[in-house]
Amino acid sequence: MGLNPFETVTEEAALSPEVSDEVKTSTCYMCACRCGIKVHLKSGKIRYIEGNPDHPVNKGVLCAKGSAGIMHQYSPAKLTKPLLRVGERGSGEFKEIEWDEALSLATDWLGELRNRDPGKLAFFTGRDQSQSLTGWWATQFGTHNFAAHGGFCSVNMAAGGLYTLGGAFWEFGEPDFERTKYLVMLGVADDHDSNPIKLGLGNLKTRPGTKFVSVNPVRTGYSAIADEWVGIRPGTDGLFLFAIIHELLRAEKIDFPYLARYSNAPWLVIREDGAPDDGLFLRDENGAPLLWDLADSSAKAATGGDASPAFAGEREVMGRKVVPSFQYLAERYLDAQYSPEAVAETTGVPADVTRRIAAELAEVAFEQELVIEQPWTDAWGRKHDKMVGRPVSFHAMRGISAHSNGFHTCRAIHILQALLGSVDVPGGWRYKAPFPKPVPPGIKPAWPKAEAATPLSGPPLGFPRGPEDLIVDQYGEPLRIDKAYSWEHPLALHGLMHMVLHNAATQDPYGIDVLFMFMANMAWNSSMNIPKTLGYFTAKRDDGEYVIPKIIYSDAFWSETVPYCDLILPDTTYLERWDCISMLDRPISSAHGAGDSIRQPVVPLDRDVRPFQTVLLDLGARLGLPGMVNNDGSPKYPGGYSDYIVNHERSPGIGPLSGWRGENGEKSGVGAVNPDQLERYIENGCFWSEELPHSAQYFKFANREYLDYAKSMGWLGHADPIAFHLYNEDLQRFRLAARGHGEIQPPPAHRERIETYFDPLPIWYQPFLEADEGGEEFPVHALSQRPMHMYHSWGSQNAWLRQITSANKLHLHRNLAAKHELADDDWVWIENGRGRVKAQVKLVTGVNENVVWTWNAIGKRKGAWGLDKDSPEFTRGFLLNHIITEMLLPKKGDKAYSNSDPVTGQAAWYDLRVRLRKCSPAEAGETEPMFEPVAKRFSGQDGPLEFGDDLKGDDTGGKSPLRDFIGQRSANHSWVEGIRDGRGNRVREDT
Ligand code: SF4
Repeated sequence: MGLNPFETVTEEAALSPEVSDEVKTSTCYMCACRCGIKVHLKSGKIRYIEGNPDHPVNKGVLCAKGSAGIMHQYSPAKLTKPLLRVGERGSGEFKEIEWDEALSLATDWLGELRNRDPGKLAFFTGRDQSQSLTGWWATQFGTHNFAAHGGFCSVNMAAGGLYTLGGAFWEFGEPDFERTKYLVMLGVADDHDSNPIKLGLGNLKTRPGTKFVSVNPVRTGYSAIADEWVGIRPGTDGLFLFAIIHELLRAEKIDFPYLARYSNAPWLVIREDGAPDDGLFLRDENGAPLLWDLADSSAKAATGGDASPAFAGEREVMGRKVVPSFQYLAERYLDAQYSPEAVAETTGVPADVTRRIAAELAEVAFEQELVIEQPWTDAWGRKHDKMVGRPVSFHAMRGISAHSNGFHTCRAIHILQALLGSVDVPGGWRYKAPFPKPVPPGIKPAWPKAEAATPLSGPPLGFPRGPEDLIVDQYGEPLRIDKAYSWEHPLALHGLMHMVLHNAATQDPYGIDVLFMFMANMAWNSSMNIPKTLGYFTAKRDDGEYVIPKIIYSDAFWSETVPYCDLILPDTTYLERWDCISMLDRPISSAHGAGDSIRQPVVPLDRDVRPFQTVLLDLGARLGLPGMVNNDGSPKYPGGYSDYIVNHERSPGIGPLSGWRGENGEKSGVGAVNPDQLERYIENGCFWSEELPHSAQYFKFANREYLDYAKSMGWLGHADPIAFHLYNEDLQRFRLAARGHGEIQPPPAHRERIETYFDPLPIWYQPFLEADEGGEEFPVHALSQRPMHMYHSWGSQNAWLRQITSANKLHLHRNLAAKHELADDDWVWIENGRGRVKAQVKLVTGVNENVVWTWNAIGKRKGAWGLDKDSPEFTRGFLLNHIITEMLLPKKGDKAYSNSDPVTGQAAWYDLRVRLRKCSPAEAGETEPMFEPVAKRFSGQDGPLEFGDDLKGDDTGGKSPLRDFIGQRSANHSWVEGIRDGRGNRVREDT
């Protein structure tokens, strides 16, 4: 037996007796990773949950959260019946009502609105995995004021990728874990793509000759097992990336043939200062961008794929001065300001470290080329006898995304990938179906509807390509409640959920009549500024009415937000309903092929609640929304969400599920409705997947076989090759408008902002809060990250997960602690210009010395989540959200902007800056601020929450069949026959 910790030991062991009499498959929803699960039931009750070994996402791996789904189901904080507010908002005084009354009330409120002004409904959802339904519902209702949680999560990541490569990380793509030799991960906490990344890292780290570098101010989780940890200063990743690009350019370690074929690097850009088309691509009479072919010294359409293009040199073509866009890129990043030495002080990364990482990337990419002997045909019909890859890959998430400079940083990562020739190649980073998409995808955000009671002309969310796609009035003022797609945040692809309550309560840009929310804890840990947000919920007009007149909310639990809403539509748990994780949304595809999945009810309902999606369809039918009613006005989906999943067609033959379509289930992707579709999914473990032929698995952006297949599946409207946009002309269009060109121009107040931040190549600037309110007074960066064992608020009521963490501490470096004379468990004030929070400290070394961090969403408000009054979550758990702000201070003579990225509107959670002050002995003991308890609705968890006593089986005395055994080896070997002593999968040697 070797010492490989990831090697699976197979041995025969006497294990527990069989304890279940039924096993149902489904999809986990204890976080957003969508792992396959097998739920073991005894007498109809959940006995335990395990990972589904056949499932493409997790291959049997289950995390602590996933196993603890049982306690989610048995939580004492579950809502039990529809509620109508009878006291003031926040009082928690409700009366229970019947569903008929609840739905009639909601229908009255929404129906009146739809007939008058549908845009006065703001419909915003949290970590909703049914956005293709919720977005469609908003479209049919006719409100443009719709979005989900992406604006406060990682829209910078999505937008940065979609405006550069036509794909992005996590749901849109993944490292080629089986082949990559060098992985750089930036700003990734353990909750994102959790089990797939754990599996991938296990694969990577057990192959010889590989390296995993984690760039992250905090060394937890993935960073803790990295071969090299780079403890960068928050918000400076862009500079670090520019320095790497600087080094690669200097050494000419650039994959020019790859860029020539697959990117816009050689496309000719008009370089004429002051011209209305300065900075745009020069195009021929057919609209095709041009390049300069060195083979015959002529300009050619760049879409031919067969030129030997110039990458530098100013020329005159068609009477215009032009340069290849790569020249702009080289001029910018070769500048001395981006040398490793120049950025070292700001990033905190020593120049020799940056230089070495650049050299290692170049060495692996260009000297360790990876070849798969797999013939393939490119988009231009050329046959290649092998696939050549550059085995370096990247993954990044919220740590770099949630800054006010995050969009450009995210773009920089993708540009770096392209420069190295490592996009969708063996060993690189790979797209997951239905990606890649054209850059950017072709859908535009729908314009608000002038007429009442009519649907929008398309989905409310889309991809602007220039000022003409903004949702603004003739004065350039926002037409969306969250100001998405306005001059404040033109590429706000996912909306700005963090601004909805602020804007609605301050009536900026206008008031709304109904706010409809689903699973978003906006009165607590999903708010950037809790004290003020509670004020937005409760703000009243002079006449005593609430400024936000009506709030409808759907949640499964008695969260902090429920007491602030008027009508509560109680949701089920994920183990009690149907769901679909759709190709129309964020499916479970891998780089090997497409996949989607379902949830099925594994236990019956035991209280008067209904699945939100079914309720939404019911409301749609009551409101007579197109597509949700038949011609005679009867509901189109009387069977609820499962009925919709099977029978809805978004376009002919394309529905929520791609598997087993066609009358007999013989088709994939496009096909007639199959009434037995759900049964087929259940037979297959609640998922569908279809592997791509090997010849279509790489170079998807220019792989003829893949592009044709993607078109046939309805993922692409055409099968043209997709070019990477290193230089982004769409951004330049906004910039030209700020310079006074074109019919649609920004109002004067926004011109400088658009000119500055709509640079067609990535830029770096100091995050706004740091620049304006950080400085010497607040010198410490403060970060929150979600624990790997809990997911937002959902873990707070979970008896098992609470045993792992029920109170959080402020982690800080020992050297920073010494400066403040702090020892473990001391109490400290965390202060900034917005307020202060009191917490206990924990000294660590795995953190940047100027950074403090804590787990998010452990601290709860007294009275919520069915917890006892003295629960540690209330008294010692804390949130940094109290001192994060959703608004920046206005600069002199300027308008106040939200604390968001100026391009995408991404909430800048991680720009927080603070100072620390040790508490006096009298101040120690309990966290602050401490809000008045919300009314306690449920008896709570008095004593241990136990389950399963009645479900125990009798010991059969028999042995289990041969199987893999993982975990608890040391504890179990002494009493379980067949298990050898050791640790994990490592067996102690018999020496
Ligand atoms: S990572 Fe864990 S909690 Fe998340 S879906 Fe997978 S098993 Fe469930």
